[in-house]
Amino acid sequence: MGNILIVAELGQDGAIRDASYEVVTLARKLAEATGRGTRGLVLGSDVGDAAGKFAAGGAGDTLVVDNPALANYNVEGFNKAIRAAIEATDAEVVLLSNTPIGWDVAPRVAAGLDAAFVSDCFNIEGSGDGFTLFRRIFNGKLDAELSASGILVATVQPGANDAFEGSSDGATTALEVDLDGLRVQFVEVKQAAATGVDLSKADIIVSGGRGVGAPEKFGEVIQPLADALGGAMGASRPVVDAGWLDHPYQVGSSGQVVTPKLYVACGISGAIQHLVGMKGSNYVIAINKDPDAPIFEVADIGVVADLFDIVPALTKAVGAAKG
Ligand SMILES: Cc1cc2nc3c(=O)[nH]c(=O)nc-3n(C[C@H](O)[C@H](O)[C@H](O)COP(=O)(O)OP(=O)(O)OC[C@H]3O[C@@H](n4cnc5c(N)ncnc54)[C@H](O)[C@@H]3O)c2cc1C
Repeated sequence: MGNILIVAELGQDGAIRDASYEVVTLARKLAEATGRGTRGLVLGSDVGDAAGKFAAGGAGDTLVVDNPALANYNVEGFNKAIRAAIEATDAEVVLLSNTPIGWDVAPRVAAGLDAAFVSDCFNIEGSGDGFTLFRRIFNGKLDAELSASGILVATVQPGANDAFEGSSDGATTALEVDLDGLRVQFVEVKQAAATGVDLSKADIIVSGGRGVGAPEKFGEVIQPLADALGGAMGASRPVVDAGWLDHPYQVGSSGQVVTPKLYVACGISGAIQHLVGMKGSNYVIAINKDPDAPIFEVADIGVVADLFDIVPALTKAVGAAKG
């Protein structure tokens, strides 16, 4: 029976991202249920230390493709290296995190192998000769169940599994892959202009979602409460996608991960990608018209009401309390 290959992803600090250890948790569970082994793969330049930690941190025996051509993400290079690792490890299941890198390279790997591909799973179970995969759809309102057989490539939703914190026996082995002549070459990263918004350091965040309804309402309703509390304003992704606020305001899996003492979510449904970014908040107040909104599951105080009734009243009350 083929192995499960876990493709690790490195953060900007050169350490393996928590999201990859979440994939380890799911991979180990699937390995135990199906009698398979797990193998790790670490790609990049000067990644020996990170690979050692991954091997000992749950992945087990880990291949290392250490090549200057992989110092920055390159879809062609990553595809070649992952394909080589699949062959070297006799892998039948390939798991990556559902990050921009994962969702870029994983379909390419699957297409090259003519393998089954499922993105953004929160769970995978072994079933007979095949697999049952679960993914959340329609903003978390429904779960889709899919079955797959043969070689499987899947990406795993960040935040859906706890990061593996135990240890494993595992050695690292260098894997040589010819990466000469890649047709796409990395040129440079340009730092976005500083906006003055740094949610990662804010003690209090008042965030608005699609329920705020219009860009000017952020200035009229959300920002005044943030100001009254001495905090910062944040937003969900649809707000940023619509151009109402810039990306530094976005909280979530493709925005900022925040850990304030107080997080006030106004008109935010609580999709998993948003929760990933704010679930480390110490205290959460959610204001939403829909009593079934998932945000209430993580809220310490939930207010089922129209935010336009509650938020201005709160702002006024905070102002009055401060004198
Ligand atoms: C790969 C990927 C990455 C993503 N990354 C992120 C991310 O980083 N951050 C993020 O936030 N999302 C992210 N998303 C999107 C995410 O799945 C959700 O679509 C998004 O979080 C929903 O935003 P929302 O809650 O503002 O909008 P909706 O889900 O539309 O919810 C709006 C809410 O407002 C409520 N509402 C409406 N009017 C009022 C009112 N007057 N008063 C009170 N309540 C009201 C409604 O009941 C509803 O619950 C990502 C999605 C994908 C696929």
